[in-house]
This record gives sequence, C-alpha cells and structure tokens, in this order.
Amino acid sequence: MTALIRPDLAALDKTDPLRPFRDRFALPQGVIYLDGNSLGALPRTTSARVAQVIESQWGRDLITSWNKHGWMALPGRIGDKIGRLIGALPGETMVGDSTSVNLFKALAAALKLRPGRKLILSEPANFPTDLYIAEGLAALLAEGHELKLVEPDEIAAAITDEVAVVMLTHVNYRTGRMHDMAAVTAKTHASGALMLWDLAHSAGAVPVDLNGAGADLAVGCGYKYLNGGPGAPAFLWVAERWHGRIAMPLTGWLGHAAPFAFETHFRPADGIARGLVGTPPILSLAALECGVDILLEASMADIREKSLMQSRLFAQLIEQELAGHGFNLVSPREDARRGSQVCIAHEQGYPIMQALIARGVIGDFRAPDILRFGFTPLYLGYGELWDAVWVLKEIMEDRSWDRPEYHARARVT
Ligand SMILES: *Cc1c(COP(=O)(O)O)cnc(C)c1O
Repeated sequence: MTALIRPDLAALDKTDPLRPFRDRFALPQGVIYLDGNSLGALPRTTSARVAQVIESQWGRDLITSWNKHGWMALPGRIGDKIGRLIGALPGETMVGDSTSVNLFKALAAALKLRPGRKLILSEPANFPTDLYIAEGLAALLAEGHELKLVEPDEIAAAITDEVAVVMLTHVNYRTGRMHDMAAVTAKTHASGALMLWDLAHSAGAVPVDLNGAGADLAVGCGYKYLNGGPGAPAFLWVAERWHGRIAMPLTGWLGHAAPFAFETHFRPADGIARGLVGTPPILSLAALECGVDILLEASMADIREKSLMQSRLFAQLIEQELAGHGFNLVSPREDARRGSQVCIAHEQGYPIMQALIARGVIGDFRAPDILRFGFTPLYLGYGELWDAVWVLKEIMEDRSWDRPEYHARARVT
C-alpha cells in the first residue's frame, strides 16, 4: 500500500481551486459532513431566496406571479441549468415530481416505444425504488413485462433482443460503483433496446454526457449533489430525437399542448413539457435553483479531480489507520469505476456509524453492513478527511461504538 503516514492534508486545502466554494454553504461548526450524497448542504443563498419568493412574489403579487415572475417557466428553466451538468441540449430536461415518479414516467414511455419486447433489464443492487417502480409498472400494464435482474458484470451479455429497456443507476447508491455509460448505452442500442439512466448519484457529482453517450431517457435527484433541499423536485431528461414520439403515462394538464385552453381531451405538448404533470412546486424550485447555480460556477473537471482524490485518500487512510478492525472496502479502487463516495463494510456498521455521527462525523448506514461516506468537493475540505478517520479510529480503539444507545435503530438510517 502507498505510504501515507500522516499526510499534510491541510496543505492540500490551501491549493484547492474549489476551496472558496465552501463559504457558499451554511455548514454547522464541528460537523464533518460526509453525507452530501444523501442530502446536500444548505447554500447560503437559499433562505433569503425562498423568503423573497414567499414575501415579494407569493405574498405581494399573488396569482399574478405566474406571469410576472415567470413561475410557469421554472421547470424548464432550471431543467436547462441541470442539463448543462449532464450533457443535455436546451429543452431536453424538466424539473418536477420525485425521482421515483419521473422514473415511472420514463420507463412507461420507453416500454411503449418497444411494444414487442417484454424485459426490463436492471441489477439486483439497484436502488429499491427503481426496482419497485418497475415491478409496479409491469403489474399495472399487465402485458407480460418482466423485470430481469443480473449482476453488473453480466449486464452486457444479458442485453438480448427480448429486452425493451435497460434501466440502470449510473453510480450505485450503496457501493459507489459507476457504469460505463457510453459502453452500456452502445450495447443496449446494438440490441435495439432503449437506455434509461438514473443519475441520482451522478448529477453534480461526476461528469455526465447523456447525448455523448446517445442515451434515450434519464432521471435524477434534486436533493443530493444538486443541494436543492430535502425533497427537492427531481428531473426528467428525454433525448430530443424522442420528443413528439413518446407517450407519457401521467397525462396531467401541464403536459398538455395548451393547458390554459382547458380543452376536454388530452393533447400532449411537443417538447419536454410533455413530461410535466401538475402545478410546479415554486418554493422548492426556488431552493433548488440556488443549489444548481453554485454548481454551474464550478468546473466539473475540478469537482471530479477533487472527488477522486478525496475518496482515494479516505480509503487509503482507513486501510492504514484501521487495519485489523474488520473494515472492508466495498467501493471500486479504480478511479474510472468509482463515483463520489466510499463504502466500507463492517459487521457492526450500524452502531459504528451512530457513534461517528454522535462525534460530528456524519455519514450514513446502508443495510446490511455498509458505512457510506459521500464526497462533495464544493464544501468538503481535505483536512476534514484526516479528522474523520481519526475519530473513527478512536471509536474503534475505545470501543465506544458498542454503547447501547448506538445499537438502537432509528427510522431513517
Ligand atoms: C436517492 C435515489 C432515489 C430517490 O428517489 P425519491 O423518489 O426522491 O425518493 C431514486 N433512485 C436512486 C438511484 C437514488 O439514489
């Protein structure tokens, strides 16, 4: 293993081009936040911005705000901003609903484009909501669709001409393993299937080029690396070549070609607006835009470089400092296959994570035995990595993780 001993991580902070972004976030003192992959930190601009929308738009201009403040345009406008982070063209991305609901829409639309094929291909370790949505949709359609799950290494071989849609999460939520988007998409198209990517752990975290890869549909999350706030609206992306040809399963009035014509029958809008369903959540959109705007100021190349450096250093430090304590690195060591997180298995993972959180080092636990640490280069310093590993070392050496209160399971882990 590389000799790290005690690296001067604080020196890396001094030359870090992303260091100034840290002050753009309101992080509490004494906390090392390694969970921005699950709920991003609060941008300093968000509170004032949301208050302004509440007071001077909703409060003062009331319903005239829909026109006066361009509320109706927000799902597309913020969608285009997110689009710049994922290799989208303007007009291909909309914001609204949750990731789960957008996945339902995207998968249903994709299945309709491949009527003769009955398989949805994914992997057993995909995020549960993705699998549950696919199961529920297959049952609802009652056309014999089946969710076929194969291990990541077997996906390429499983893409046969029976597969309608390959539905994968680009970066696995638990292991941090990242698929080769271009290669899997090419293989999918070679068999005549459609490619649907979930970018929940990719958007704002790793470089993504949906059009470069030739993907068909994608969804992603607003409250993780985009820092949009708890329950922030998610996004839906549809490649332009499918616009006008896809049928959305949720035909709400805002997906109509002319919502304010109040026609009796549904006629779909032409572009990505077809993916809209109901009235957009204006306050949540205002918060999301603050998070996205900060990301757009940073260079994705810098973000990726720092993220890889941080995850690599963190894994090395754990192996160096905690050898013999029963930790096993689950995330890929190879940079090209790792997203922006490090996952470490330990049979006492749950109480160890609770002990860490009690000491101000916030990561999370994913059953059955994974300690998960996310790296958010905009606000995470290098010096904090050493501090986090040091706290973990103390918790293991003094066995404070084994206190009864750390074994009690909370509702959200
Ligand atoms: C976080 C996450 C979701 C979240 O879905 P919600 O509808 O926002 O609860 C979905 N898919 C993946 C892969 C995720 O990581």
